[in-house]
Amino acid sequence: MAVLVAGGAGYIGSHMVDRLINDGYDVVVVDNLSTGHRQAINPKARFYEGDTRDSDFLDDVFSKEKIDAVIHMDAFSLVPESMKDPLKYFDNNVIGMIKLLESMKKAGIKYLVFSSTAATYGNPERIPIYEKDRKDPINPYGESKLIMEHIMKWVDEAYGIKFVALRYFNAAGAKEDGSIGEDHHPETHLIPIVLKVAAGQQDTMKIFGDDYDTPDGTNVRDYVHVLDLADAHILAMKYLEKGNPSNIFNLGSSTGFSNKQIIDAARKVTGKKIPTEIAPRRGGDPDTLVANSDKAREVLGWKPQFDNIDSIIKTAWTWKTKHPNGYEDK
Ligand code: NAD
Ligand code: UDP
Repeated sequence: MAVLVAGGAGYIGSHMVDRLINDGYDVVVVDNLSTGHRQAINPKARFYEGDTRDSDFLDDVFSKEKIDAVIHMDAFSLVPESMKDPLKYFDNNVIGMIKLLESMKKAGIKYLVFSSTAATYGNPERIPIYEKDRKDPINPYGESKLIMEHIMKWVDEAYGIKFVALRYFNAAGAKEDGSIGEDHHPETHLIPIVLKVAAGQQDTMKIFGDDYDTPDGTNVRDYVHVLDLADAHILAMKYLEKGNPSNIFNLGSSTGFSNKQIIDAARKVTGKKIPTEIAPRRGGDPDTLVANSDKAREVLGWKPQFDNIDSIIKTAWTWKTKHPNGYEDK
């Protein structure tokens, strides 16, 4: 079976591509390398460099390759950046989705697995969050992903392109051998920044706000290992191939950790001090996001392998110690 991974040079995409290849899939990657890395792509995948908003480029790829399913991971995904520059997010994410669906329709490709996000919920009405709960994004990034989900729903009704949207909570960790991992420029995510401080590349860890409505005042998030996310996509493709209807699933560990708890866990895993300071709130951050992921477990048969935060941070630390400067070191 041939799978196209859009955004396969990115953090989650590169782990997805690697897992697909190890499972025997024929893999095609499209990526414009805006935030991804050529060195992150498993060399057994066929790579086409280009932008998914470019219909001619996509049509050309679909004419050269016989693709059975598309995994859509190519998006901008930084909450703070989206607050400052919403049009950049709506342009890349929403237009990119429309162009991809148009090209899939022309090429007759019927299956799409989509990287959605917990940011679609905004400040949730209850914890843990169920898929059917209110969705009221508080940042343009989450709004763009919710719009993309709605577009896929109507496209399914009209043209029969079936989709699974996977609402990831906080992706973390790396392939266990440390050969691929997270390398964003700029890096804004909590765990890679904590590990920068642990590695002595940054003096202190800024905690953005300690006056949230949470037990220790810092935001609470639900961390899920990047390879467990990759597994869920393979299960989602199998679900669609069996003729099941389009569907939406949360993907999280169902356990929340505050920012302070993550820093403590990183201290334990790395054995480093990790100095911290309290900084102002970042903007666009909901108090708490924790998933109920029972639906993915029951319907898809998803069984996350990394079920505790220390083991997740340990894999990110292995990547960090082997590649202190990310893909520059490869
Ligand atoms: P990433 O920035 O590392 O990867 C995105 C990849 O897409 C990059 O390689 C980038 O070059 C490529 N890309 C972006 N726009 C493109 C375009 N128009 N044409 C072609 N390529 C393009 O991000 P990531 O952390 O790996 O996230 C992957 C997906 O998962 C995103 O859709 C994101 O919204 C979603 N997601 C991520 C998290 C997380 O915690 N990292 C959580 C929830 C959802
Ligand atoms: N965060 C922080 N300091 C940092 C980076 C992140 O306190 O240097 C906080 C951020 O405000 C949020 C949490 O860590 O409360 C997770 O942020 P991240 O960007 O990793 O993921 P998000 O939940 O925004 O997708």
